Amino acid sequence: MTFRALVLTQGADRKVSGTIETLPEDRLPAGDVTVAVDYSTLNYKDGLVLTSGGGLVKTWPHVGGIDFAGTVETSENPAFKAGDKVVLNGYRVGELHWGGYATKARVKGDWLVRLPASISSRRAMAIGTAGYTSMLCVMALEKHGITPASGEILVTGAAGGVGSVAVAILAKLGYTVVAATGRAQEGDYLKALGATTIMDRKELTEAPDRPLLGERFAGVVDTVSGVMFARALAQVKYGGAAAVCGLAAGPAFPGSILPFILRGVSVYGIDSVMLPKAPREEAWRRLGSDLPLDKLDSTVSEAGLGDLMTLAPKILKGEIRGRVVVDVN
Ligand code: NDP
Repeated sequence: MTFRALVLTQGADRKVSGTIETLPEDRLPAGDVTVAVDYSTLNYKDGLVLTSGGGLVKTWPHVGGIDFAGTVETSENPAFKAGDKVVLNGYRVGELHWGGYATKARVKGDWLVRLPASISSRRAMAIGTAGYTSMLCVMALEKHGITPASGEILVTGAAGGVGSVAVAILAKLGYTVVAATGRAQEGDYLKALGATTIMDRKELTEAPDRPLLGERFAGVVDTVSGVMFARALAQVKYGGAAAVCGLAAGPAFPGSILPFILRGVSVYGIDSVMLPKAPREEAWRRLGSDLPLDKLDSTVSEAGLGDLMTLAPKILKGEIRGRVVVDVN
């Protein structure tokens, strides 16, 4: 029994090389469930692993791919049986543990989530870690008590992977979405996803540097951090909330404590990697019902294992549009 994988090695200069190899199944890492992988995807983190390791990989040779979707082949875990459709995100798979850039993966069953019947393996990877993180952000705002009647929701980095799926989910749920982007040419795309208002990123970055600005947003999904997040926070209405998941503009933000202590604003930190299983399953269940999957399809391009070494530097330079789904077979 064999499987094919993009096997990565790191040279003395830290540069990573990849070759597609056929390996015996006993090379798969330890785990109680073996999955026949249908699709993986390309994320920023994958770009780091495929080019330099990004300090994320501890042992070589390595198989990358931080998420995958496929079918259970064998299972020693009572929660899964052969034929189950599953998805995996996070748990440092593709970093510390061999990942989805292979026709088979062996993992702990506790890391797997059963796919809702309405989501195919390919669509699961079109959603990927980005889309699943968007759902977690929306769930955090809902848990706070924000409803469509509360008012406008701002999404920063709206044309990016997390941002665009957040726009689509919020619009489908009936929220009024303000999509903040630095790419005016993506306005039509964001409107098609359901944004009500397209905001030029500069409206935030060039807003007055004051701890409190006029109250406007009931909630914020922030994928950017930096000045954008600081000015967004200053415009959250009394009792509102922000779900914070990204740092596209870097980790620091020049914010003030005043929105918290004068307007009772809350901030929810979103981590998709080590999130416990119950909210993970809830997020995938919700993606099956609340994400307009047909809208997502227009953002997807497809690649194979043989394309990954070429695509990796491009994602690091921001040259990839939409989501890249990787057909590993
Ligand atoms: P993308 O690169 O697809 O999107 C990021 C978007 O942010 C860009 O499209 C752009 O949006 C905007 N942006 C980029 N650089 C800047 C800048 N310097 N200033 C202002 N805006 C900027 O990334 P993803 O959507 O996949 O991820 C977004 C963030 O979320 C990343 O930081 C990622 O690491 C993080 N993330 C976190 C997760 C978690 O578990 N917490 C999980 C997944 C992702 P536009 O063109 O619209 O202006």
